[in-house]
Amino acid sequence: MDHVENILSLKGVSKSFPGVKALDNVDFSVRKGEVHALAGENGAGKSTLMKILSGSYRKDEGTVEFDGRKVEVRSPKDAENLGLSIIYQELNIFQGLTVAENIYVGRQPKKNGVVDWKKMYTDAEKLFDELHIKLDVRKKVRGLSIAQQQMIEIAKAVSAHAKLVIMDEPTSSLATHETKLLFEIINRLRDNGVAIIFITHRLDEIFEISDRVTVMRDGCSIGTCDTGDITKAELITMMIGREMTKQFPVRHAVIGEELLRLDNISDGKKVKGVSFAVARGEVLGFAGLVGAGRTETMRMVFGADKRRTGKIFINGKEIRIRSPKDSVKNKIAFVTENRKEEGLLLAKSVRQNIVMAALSKIRTKYLLNYKKEQEYSKKYIEDMNISTPSENKQVMFLSGGNQQKVVVAKWLMSDSEVIILDEPTRGIDVGAKHEIYELINQLAEAGKAIIVVSSDMEEILGISDRILVMYEGEITGEVKREEFSQHIISEYQIGGKRS
Ligand code: ADP
Ligand code: MG
Repeated sequence: MDHVENILSLKGVSKSFPGVKALDNVDFSVRKGEVHALAGENGAGKSTLMKILSGSYRKDEGTVEFDGRKVEVRSPKDAENLGLSIIYQELNIFQGLTVAENIYVGRQPKKNGVVDWKKMYTDAEKLFDELHIKLDVRKKVRGLSIAQQQMIEIAKAVSAHAKLVIMDEPTSSLATHETKLLFEIINRLRDNGVAIIFITHRLDEIFEISDRVTVMRDGCSIGTCDTGDITKAELITMMIGREMTKQFPVRHAVIGEELLRLDNISDGKKVKGVSFAVARGEVLGFAGLVGAGRTETMRMVFGADKRRTGKIFINGKEIRIRSPKDSVKNKIAFVTENRKEEGLLLAKSVRQNIVMAALSKIRTKYLLNYKKEQEYSKKYIEDMNISTPSENKQVMFLSGGNQQKVVVAKWLMSDSEVIILDEPTRGIDVGAKHEIYELINQLAEAGKAIIVVSSDMEEILGISDRILVMYEGEITGEVKREEFSQHIISEYQIGGKRS
């Protein structure tokens, strides 16, 4: 490869942590002015590699060339001086300072030895104009959205004359329209000759934004391709090291008797008279656009929100659901969309989270039985292949996929019969997704009734026995497995009824 056109070239980089070889002889290069995606499952070593580049970690071995020179990046300051900026997932922003102060922190323009505030603000305004970012530079950061804070970090990198900007999972907490804005800015940076390393677990984004992609697996660099030259399936194969011919595992479940039935459920706002039933062994998919009322419907079934009308039946008998306590008693489980906010206690251990919904099982009189807690949680960690150093690790340190498995384990432990999963695979990588699908199958095979709300069309077609489509609070269509097609579901999703 032509040496001069690379802005960055790593050779033989290795890094170990106690017990893990996080990077194993990695070669990686980035061309001037390209968007280079870095892909790989959780734990592949992407962040570690980037932290070495930005001076947060020291490499054990290997060389780094930047802009034609061999360099040693010993600290974040070194990286900045070289023209290498990194934007972490946890943004590095001072909430109490203004937007402009954040951009120029530590290097404010000065006049006669004092900060030239006027120049700082006009410079910041000019910078935002150039980048087409619409944000008041005099505003305090506190209260701004994550997307806006990210923009500030990008502006900061540009103002520091970065030649390479690293973005580690920048889109993981952005809404779709915010991602679109981010991509516009990335394209503008590329047009100005800035190279970008873009880490994401969303494959569609890799194909949308990147020129080339490098895949990492188990600390090794597996290969680099022009993004236009590979298919999604090939990329997945590189990432997980095996072919994903069966992205969706084969179903063996037998559909049995009706278990849960809803009759004319409404909340007086977003949900307007929803009725459906789900049977034992069945996976019932809920398709629809964001805002169609799917989550709201499920929240009423679970008792998290109040319903205005309607009845809920289990095994043909009407049940009373006034709160989540009632639904847990009736063996209804709800794996929420916001697992971080609702499904998990992040600061608590894996063990405590798993046993949370089934305390009666491990309680002896009034005391919690720690030994039982440990036994149960160890069993689930093993059965579900949850990757954690021990059952005592705080959940916040686990990857998204493993956090999701903890949520599911929690509900399995409670012996739930109806399991509602709201966007169960959002934000987790392909390997973990596959494991969640297998888990859904196992649950169905065990005779549970499963409801999956998902906005991922491929997923809902891949895992459901039957799909209900919602639009503006109503069920607009029912599609059986034999008639599954993206086309039919899309029609219903925009309110179309079959002629
Ligand atoms: P990725 O960003 O691709 O998900 P990471 O670079 O975060 O992967 O992690 C690679 C491996 O190194 C993992 O096994 C992770 O547990 C380990 N690791 C990362 N940072 C540390 C650290 N500070 N201490 C110990 N182990 C670490
Ligand atoms: Mg990472």
